[in-house]
Amino acid sequence: MCYAIPGKVIEVKERKVVVDYFGERRTAFNEFENLKIGDYIYAQGGFVIDRILEEEAVKILEFWKETFFKLREADLRISKIEDGRSVSKKTKIILDKALEGFKLKREEVLYLLNLEDEIDKEYLYKVANYIRYKFHKNACCVHGIIEISNYCSCDCLYCGIRRSNKDLNRYRMTEEEILRHLDLMINKYGFKAIVIQSGEDSYYDVERLSSLIKEIKKKFNLLLFISINEVGEEGLRKFYEAGVRGLLLRFETINKELYERFHPEGSFEERVNDIKKAKEIGFLLLTGGLIGLPGESLQDIAEDIFFATRLNPEMYTFGPFLPASDTPLSNFEKPDLEIVLKVTAILRLLNPEGKIVSTTAVETLSPQEGRTRAFLAGANSLMLNLTPEHYKTLYRIYPNRIHENESIEYQIEKAIKDLQDLGRAPTDLGV
Ligand code: SAH
Repeated sequence: MCYAIPGKVIEVKERKVVVDYFGERRTAFNEFENLKIGDYIYAQGGFVIDRILEEEAVKILEFWKETFFKLREADLRISKIEDGRSVSKKTKIILDKALEGFKLKREEVLYLLNLEDEIDKEYLYKVANYIRYKFHKNACCVHGIIEISNYCSCDCLYCGIRRSNKDLNRYRMTEEEILRHLDLMINKYGFKAIVIQSGEDSYYDVERLSSLIKEIKKKFNLLLFISINEVGEEGLRKFYEAGVRGLLLRFETINKELYERFHPEGSFEERVNDIKKAKEIGFLLLTGGLIGLPGESLQDIAEDIFFATRLNPEMYTFGPFLPASDTPLSNFEKPDLEIVLKVTAILRLLNPEGKIVSTTAVETLSPQEGRTRAFLAGANSLMLNLTPEHYKTLYRIYPNRIHENESIEYQIEKAIKDLQDLGRAPTDLGV
């Protein structure tokens, strides 16, 4: 099974290539030597990440061709919006403005975050989904994430793998284990974009990780993201040189006072600087915040949305705070699904071109409908947890993470079914 559609190179301009996908043209950044017109490639996140033999590509494209257009028709049907006649006047005016491509103001975003009326909320989600279709069609990228270690020297108040949580069994995958596991995920299951994540583990410092990354890049063609912690500009440059092309780092909350309350030793400035620097260096940026942290207001959430928008990341990742046992925040309430959907939809109104991920946390918050409803409120990306099964339950940032007892095969099958039911093609056409 593969998670990208092969494309045919139709133009080569220095390090950029133009790629054809069923008549649609996309540009991708190329780091391969000798790539020429007529070659077939896989692209992810706007990067050419692998070449593929013509006969293999033609076979895969043959399978995709019919499916792809059938799915797209289904998506188009689902994404239609009605005239919105029963929607309240103010909501309609704001959403019409978004539909016409005007940027929303703070008070309008706050108004949408406050919506209570069911018809109005549904209309917000529908408009967001329509905009998603208009800009992305039914393309949907499926990345994988491997959590290589749950050792953490940080003590973030909400996080279940925080240093002070002494009851948690700690694990750390060895370099060999990681390489073997990647081999399986890439060569058996077809993943082409993978995030390597961990707690702040002093064993996996920048030096050690950089040499591991070089090893990984020597062995596999993949788009590699890293999600460790703040490493500063020098660390980021080392990662880039080693072959990392994406950074997943949430700013968590842009309210400095809240940030400092929840990260007793963390530096808000360092976190934000890393995020901004990564973008400057050329990393694909995946960022966002936690929704519903204790003490967070709707105004704070609106500021998080605007801050994320200004960063202009490749992908937005905003997930609900879920109270974790054995943490100081264990007794606080989790937010409801509607606020997560509103944030997803508003992000889409403000960022038609960005990718928005439907997070594992939103699925955990609402196992029955979290994923589908996020996809119908503007989301268009998915990250599957590829951590080996015997470690997955130990990366317990919050309890009962969805899919933690499911095999990778089952997760893939389920993701494909959920996506196809919505007319989405589990692929990434690049940019
Ligand atoms: N060390 C990495 C990864 C941390 S865990 C880093 O510093 O970014 C990945 C993400 O899990 C965090 O960014 C946080 O947003 C999320 N997370 C942690 N605890 C959580 C909780 N209780 N509920 C929801 N999300 C949580």
